[in-house]
Parts: sequence; structure tokens; C-alpha cells
Amino acid sequence: MTTNTFYNEILTEHNIRPLHKREIEGANLRLEGVNPSCGDEITVSLRVNADNIVEDGAFEGSGCAISQASADMMLDLIIGKTKDEALELANIFLRMIQKQASPEEVEMLEEASILEDVSNMPARVKCAVLGWRTVDEMLKNHEDHK
Ligand code: ZN
Repeated sequence: MTTNTFYNEILTEHNIRPLHKREIEGANLRLEGVNPSCGDEITVSLRVNADNIVEDGAFEGSGCAISQASADMMLDLIIGKTKDEALELANIFLRMIQKQASPEEVEMLEEASILEDVSNMPARVKCAVLGWRTVDEMLKNHEDHK
């Protein structure tokens, strides 16, 4: 029960005070992700600089607590990282939800690792991965600066 209370508290905190639900200046990547099975819609914006570092990021949109909290935690994690690191973290998250990530990898997700429980809730999986899937797609399609 302790774990569940903790989980709910973190989700609630990210919903009441999402740090990254805002607009950012100079975003050069923007992509909308939609999860029709729940009605979640998220638009993620990133500013990736010439050294391929994610300088800033934000999301807008609406949806359930899991989709919003997951996107907020994701931005906490990937801002300041390189594009490759962000892609790796998104990959780990997507595998964690399918129970295919090692404990060491799950640890790299920091706070977002609490969403590992969602792997036992098939109906919420698409909510949890929405932001990550969106970032994965936008970064993969983003050409490296040379
Ligand atoms: Zn949802």
C-alpha cells in the first residue's frame, strides 16, 4: 500500500503543478501525440541546439493524470541531455512498460520509474507512453546538426 500511496502522490503532484506544461521560446521541434483510446492529446515542443542538446522542452494538451504526469516527468529527465541520451531514455521507458528493461535501466529513469507499475495495467499503457513515444518519433526524424 505504501508504494501505491507514493505513486498516487507523485502523479497528483505532477498534475497539480506540472513544471513543464507551458510554452517555450524558440522551439525547433514540435509534435502532437494522440491516444484515442483514452482521449489524451499532448503536443511536445523541444529546443535542440546546434550541439544536439535538448536545451528546453514543454508540453501542452489535455488528458488523464497518467498521460500528463508521465510527460512532465519525461521532460524533467530529458532537458539538458543530448538527443542520443534522450532517445535512449525514451527507449528504456518504452521497454520498461513492456517489462523488458533491466533494473539498472529502470533506475536511469529516476522519478519516471514509478510508472513501472503501469506495465500491470494494460488499459493505461498507451497513456503512460504517449509523451515518450512522441519524443522518440520527433527525435528520430530530426537530422543531426553537422
Ligand atoms: Zn489516458
